[in-house]
Amino acid sequence: MAFGSGVIRGMGITFRHLVESYVIGFKEQPAAAGDLVAPTAVRAGMPVRTGGMQTVQYPDEKLPIPERFRYLPFLLYEDDADNDREAFDGIRCTACGICAKVCPPQCIWIVQGKGDDGKPRPVATEFYIDASICMSCGFCAEYCPFDAIKMDHDYELSSYERHESWVYDLQELLHPVAYHAAIHPTDWQRELEEQRAKDEAKRRKAEAKAAKAAAAGADGDAEDPEAAKQRKLEARQKMLDARKAREAAKAAEQGDAPDEA
Ligand code: SF4
Ligand code: SF4
Repeated sequence: MAFGSGVIRGMGITFRHLVESYVIGFKEQPAAAGDLVAPTAVRAGMPVRTGGMQTVQYPDEKLPIPERFRYLPFLLYEDDADNDREAFDGIRCTACGICAKVCPPQCIWIVQGKGDDGKPRPVATEFYIDASICMSCGFCAEYCPFDAIKMDHDYELSSYERHESWVYDLQELLHPVAYHAAIHPTDWQRELEEQRAKDEAKRRKAEAKAAKAAAAGADGDAEDPEAAKQRKLEARQKMLDARKAREAAKAAEQGDAPDEA
């Protein structure tokens, strides 16, 4: 390659981008602030411009955020009145603590609720995330077995101090399920399908059980559930007695054995 040809090629690329800025970029500019058109290409879920002006006039203009973008975690609550977690204000989190355990920088703090009898309840009365430490890895959302924590798209969270306002409490972290469905449509569809499959499997299992019970009833062999429970308890007691008898016999045998020392 001739000396200086790389420089000339680079200048050619720069010139091409300049021209594209006036041709492609001009066509893609939003008609109004906040109305940016879709990117010209999408690769691996990220918007990628293939040419033209690269500068976005933030904050008047904003690029579309890919669904998988993640910033800070948020907690979900069910927004319909008739839900499984109604007793806990619809809050999905059961305070199992898995997210706090897997969080690499340990920035999640949870306090589990307790009933009047002092026994733990499956709900968090306090839930804090220190956003100044969170590294947006998404592990908490990945590992949560209840789909109770998801990653937010809101990145405009700057503040004038680095302490109190960066520690988010339960009320600040809570968002309705509809918000999650709106920002993560693909994820939401997958969750719905999984839930449908689970409900269907549960329904089939219940049907199979009912059919089995009906068949046994028709044969006149149906056993009362209470009687079955009693039968199992008695069998267990017999096993325990037999084990005790074996141990007693063994102990007696060892006690009678001559001292070989
Ligand atoms: S893993 Fe999910 S359910 Fe468990 S404490 Fe964290 S957010 Fe709550
Ligand atoms: S995103 Fe990562 S660092 Fe942030 S709270 Fe979740 S697990 Fe911790």
